[in-house]
Amino acid sequence: MRRVSNACLTRANSFGLESTAEELLEVSSVEELLESLEHSPSATILGEGSNVVLHRHLPGLVIRVRIRGILVKRVDESAYRIRVGAGERWNELVRSLLGRGIRGLENLSLIPGSVGAAPYQNIGAYGRELGPMVESVEVVDRVEMTTRTLPAAECEFRYRDSVFKSGSPKRYVITYVNIRTGDQAVETGYPDIDTELRKLGCDRPNPIQVARAVIRVRRRKLPDPRLIGNVGSFFKNPLLSSKDFELLRGKCEIQGFEERGLVKVSAARLIEASGWKGFRDGAVAVWHRQPLVLINTGGATATNVLGLADRIVDDVHRRYGVALDREPIEIGRP
Ligand SMILES: Cc1cc2nc3c(=O)[nH]c(=O)nc-3n(C[C@H](O)[C@H](O)[C@H](O)COP(=O)(O)OP(=O)(O)OC[C@H]3O[C@@H](n4cnc5c(N)ncnc54)[C@H](O)[C@@H]3O)c2cc1C
Repeated sequence: MRRVSNACLTRANSFGLESTAEELLEVSSVEELLESLEHSPSATILGEGSNVVLHRHLPGLVIRVRIRGILVKRVDESAYRIRVGAGERWNELVRSLLGRGIRGLENLSLIPGSVGAAPYQNIGAYGRELGPMVESVEVVDRVEMTTRTLPAAECEFRYRDSVFKSGSPKRYVITYVNIRTGDQAVETGYPDIDTELRKLGCDRPNPIQVARAVIRVRRRKLPDPRLIGNVGSFFKNPLLSSKDFELLRGKCEIQGFEERGLVKVSAARLIEASGWKGFRDGAVAVWHRQPLVLINTGGATATNVLGLADRIVDDVHRRYGVALDREPIEIGRP
């Protein structure tokens, strides 16, 4: 276990926000995690810091889960069971499986972050979510102070949400994720990906070609966090009742997509229609190519980021009566 006092986290969060943890501990096994949680049950858990808004001060203990390992078992001719440590990098898992000819995760290529955080917000992109591929999630339960395996049904996966994020927040620390994949058809229904595949001349694309298309679209639309601080989409796409969708359509030209009995609309469209695309306020701005993304133009604090986010939320609500929810997690105090 590696413990550091007054640890600087500025390079440990993709927004590049200045932040210091009172104590930072890296654990590389379930035993180390249990031992540290017994002393500090309410410790803050941090992965790769690509979906957090960190304030200047993170009091108490911050634990980074560095449990590694990828175990692949063949189930039948095409399906595989994969047990992955929470400390593995998500994108490296995707690359490693595709390299072994195992399909299923290609649409989730290039998503930054750790495997442990992936079920936390049920990561998703370009027509595919992690949830349906998860068989179970192994955790340390901070209430019982014991290890448990939650079957997928208990993970309550929803759009960018799960039991870990909003069901029982802070109760579970994810140690391993068990995924079943390999037997899905390629998913190319998302318009940007379909267009990119056509440009690449792929009529019957294979998973590697889908991954390539996803990577090209992402590189074009999203700022690289190594160069420009950001956390990807800052807002979730709102899910509306059909009645609210009809009301919205009276005020804004916008498409709706059926999802889980509701109508999903593009938060980017609402933000753009409200005139925020490319808007800059000191050290924070709305990315000019994708208005869902807020960026740190240099030296921004969590207060700056959240201030701009609140202005956008208020304005979109005032104009269209739609409440935007934030996607990243706010941690610490100013
Ligand atoms: C450029 C860019 C593009 C992105 N694109 C997408 C996208 O397409 N789709 C998408 O879904 N997300 C996207 N994201 C968001 C982010 O990459 C994912 O949410 C990712 O899963 C976060 O992983 P992390 O390790 O960085 O988590 P962190 O940011 O470190 O943590 C996020 C939350 O998860 C909790 N957490 C982390 N690890 C654990 C654990 N082991 N156990 C319990 N809780 C834990 C933390 O406490 C925190 O609340 C993007 C981010 C960026 C910067």
